[in-house]
Amino acid sequence: MKTFPSRSTGLLLLALSLLGTFAVGCTRYPVTETLSLMGTEVSITVQDVDERLKGRLVYAAIDSAFVEIERIEDLCKWNELSKLNGYAGYKDYQIGSELIRLINHAYDISAKTEGAFRPDTGPLVDLWGIGTDQARIPNLLEIDYTIELMNSTTFTPLDSVNARLDPSRAKLELGAIAKGYAVDRACEVLMDLGVKAGMVWAGGDLRVFGAKPDGSPWRIAVRHPRDPEKYLRVIEIREGAVATSGDYERFSELEGGRYCHIMDPWEGAPSRASISSTVVMETCMDADAYATALFVLGPTEGTQLADYLGFPALMADEEGGKMHVVETESFKSLVSE
Ligand code: ADP
Ligand code: MG
Repeated sequence: MKTFPSRSTGLLLLALSLLGTFAVGCTRYPVTETLSLMGTEVSITVQDVDERLKGRLVYAAIDSAFVEIERIEDLCKWNELSKLNGYAGYKDYQIGSELIRLINHAYDISAKTEGAFRPDTGPLVDLWGIGTDQARIPNLLEIDYTIELMNSTTFTPLDSVNARLDPSRAKLELGAIAKGYAVDRACEVLMDLGVKAGMVWAGGDLRVFGAKPDGSPWRIAVRHPRDPEKYLRVIEIREGAVATSGDYERFSELEGGRYCHIMDPWEGAPSRASISSTVVMETCMDADAYATALFVLGPTEGTQLADYLGFPALMADEEGGKMHVVETESFKSLVSE
């Protein structure tokens, strides 16, 4: 077993340290395994299993979930999506029905967030290169050209497996939804194989399912965006997903300023609207994407949209070195004493 996720991550799980262990067969629960995947630490915790996973078979189930996460990373980053991007404006490509569904879902979220979340943000992400060695502040002409390119980008599914991207140089980027989708898929694999209660955690995004054997809810701590030693809130949930987008995970220092990896598609520049946004939703795919969208909208508009769409949100921004926290009433009701 590798190490537990570092404290630099968005969500810390008190649950793990607070829980006692109990025995099923010869394995003592909870069991936690951690691997580096999708550019972050991914941690899987199993709390309870059915009779199919007697003895040490639980480790095989966890391995299968990790393999599933690798498959999603390949689909959304290295293989099918990057081929579709490479053929943009030139020819269609067989990306498969799963990726078509995911991209269509990303466009739906884009519509529901009035374009704060944009699946076609690839050229903008590349232009700034935040978090890479190539990070730089582009000039206004480059920014205008890139916004124009994003606004003219079209994704066209041709049938259930083939799709086309236009114009040339357009680029879809699923970095703000793929990790959440991978967490959901890993949970589904675990459930299919006989895990009754567990959690999949991927650097800031997590999903829990099933009742813990002692009947207690999962306790989840949201990291303080400016002090990794502190929590902003600790919440309790029985089922569902929690995702956080923050400006402290990936950023670049450029010409004396600090720029984060979440882009404001209207400005064509890294967003400064928030320093942290956390949402609680049914699926981690949605939580991941909406956390990013709300970050771009900022605490006031972000929590208004969360209330309108009906999910709990906790957001923070900073002005003159002072942090300001806003949360929906539904989020307050999850906070534990
Ligand atoms: P993290 O990956 O650190 O959890 P997010 O889930 O917020 O953070 O995703 C950020 C990634 O999403 C960026 O690295 C970039 O690839 C992509 N991205 C940046 N801005 C946007 C945006 N406005 N809409 C959709 N995706 C974005
Ligand atoms: Mg996200």
